[in-house]
Amino acid sequence: MRVSEEVEMEDVGRSLPSLDLVEEFSCRVISRYQKKMALYLLEIAGMDGLSRFRTERSLPFGVIKHFRRVMDLFDESTQYLLGQLRHRGIIVQCKPDCSYCCFNMPYGLSTLELIWVYHGSCLTGKSSRLFRRLLEVEELWEELRRRRSGHEDHDTSHPSACEREELLKSYQKLCQPCPFLQESSCLVYRYRPIACRMHFSLSPSYWCNPRHFQHDHAVRFNLEPGDCVQDAFEQIDERFGLNISHTMICGLLELTVNIMQFEPIRWT
Ligand code: SF4
Ligand code: SF4
Repeated sequence: MRVSEEVEMEDVGRSLPSLDLVEEFSCRVISRYQKKMALYLLEIAGMDGLSRFRTERSLPFGVIKHFRRVMDLFDESTQYLLGQLRHRGIIVQCKPDCSYCCFNMPYGLSTLELIWVYHGSCLTGKSSRLFRRLLEVEELWEELRRRRSGHEDHDTSHPSACEREELLKSYQKLCQPCPFLQESSCLVYRYRPIACRMHFSLSPSYWCNPRHFQHDHAVRFNLEPGDCVQDAFEQIDERFGLNISHTMICGLLELTVNIMQFEPIRWT
């Protein structure tokens, strides 16, 4: 059995044909979830104040209200799909307190997700400590990048796809816990990005430990949002116009220092 590491949620049935996992009806259900998510995101894209965020550091309350709904819909859709797999005897091993995948560097975050995580981190009341941890992890990331590229002045915020893959793999081998991980729990669990919600394993959870000898043989897959959702995220990115890194740690640091200047977001 081979499962793709990158499975588009909309295409999951087609991507895993040998498993015959998802019927046409289930694909239609998932597609409805995706369309609803995209509609909420497009409403956000049309809201006033996104382009002024850089200077005013405030956003309409509707942004967070709608985005919360988007994330809930995403979770509902993945749970629906996992339920369909369970129904066919295919059991995903992920559990809430399972945190080996928090040794990965979350990548591919949209501006809105970075703002969402930043808001969540401000609510923890541990912003200073988290900022220090973000800096430490970014230093490791930079060190890895320097070692791989051999250039001091290479732009790390926008690596090529190939460079990024290699960096992500090397980073995972360091077994560095995410700055938000505390005693196997995520401090920003409610505000974690899609990258942290879409990763699943069919193998025993301890195989996800990068140091486990079976790690490379574990069957893991991602349920990524479909094109309509990705397009809507891109529209929002354009409205914000912040041009910040899609790597969670780097993007959060840019947001914290360059834009928010350590202040919480004002919701109006
Ligand atoms: S992907 Fe692996 S480490 Fe992450 S929750 Fe699932 S079983 Fe646990
Ligand atoms: S943000 Fe939370 S869920 Fe995501 S990697 Fe960090 S600790 Fe894990």
